[in-house]
Amino acid sequence: VKANAYGHGIIEIAKSVVSSGVDYLAVATVNEGPQLRESGIKCPILILSIPFIEEIPELVKQNLIPLVYEKEFIDTLDTAASKFHKKLEVHLKIDTGMGRIGCKPEDALDMAKLIDLKKNLELTGVCTHLAVSDSFSREDIEYTNKQISLFVTVTEDMKKQGINPGIRHCSASGGTLFYPDAHFDMVRPGLIVYGYFP
Ligand SMILES: *Cc1c(COP(=O)(O)O)cnc(C)c1O
Repeated sequence: VKANAYGHGIIEIAKSVVSSGVDYLAVATVNEGPQLRESGIKCPILILSIPFIEEIPELVKQNLIPLVYEKEFIDTLDTAASKFHKKLEVHLKIDTGMGRIGCKPEDALDMAKLIDLKKNLELTGVCTHLAVSDSFSREDIEYTNKQISLFVTVTEDMKKQGINPGIRHCSASGGTLFYPDAHFDMVRPGLIVYGYFP
């Protein structure tokens, strides 16, 4: 329901999808969280972009779930959560090829271990973003399959090391429609919720 539910009205859409059985919502920025909470939405809310430092107290207060991928930010969140005597849920974002936000796949295990050691943080999910899952060109399909298998490798490595990756998710509309193998534990459909083909 980011960007005011793609212009459709965040409160109306959030209430409607939650009553239809959706159990997680996602928004782009922290300031979209309080209006959802004030309207009585209690389900987990993921924040898809990286919050500004000054937004962190609000994020903790509203129990919003940030994506994390950098040591410094993880340290900052842990400190903030301890000030509120809270255990804050976080999802680790891995950059398997989107080239935007996320840690390198080879650093993911260490990041997960770091979160595991934090008293006031809890790793409840691991995710990535498929860059070209809405394209049917052969190279793009290959690229997407590589991203998916990299994601599997990394999350399996965590399990082998005794770290529970929690909810694994990587599919926006494209992955939701075209890559059933990439649904894992949760999907993040945006456009298709509103009836648009990606
Ligand atoms: C916007 C967004 C989505 C949804 O994308 P659509 O292409 O609209 O389905 C999913 N995941 C992340 C991380 C996003 O930023």
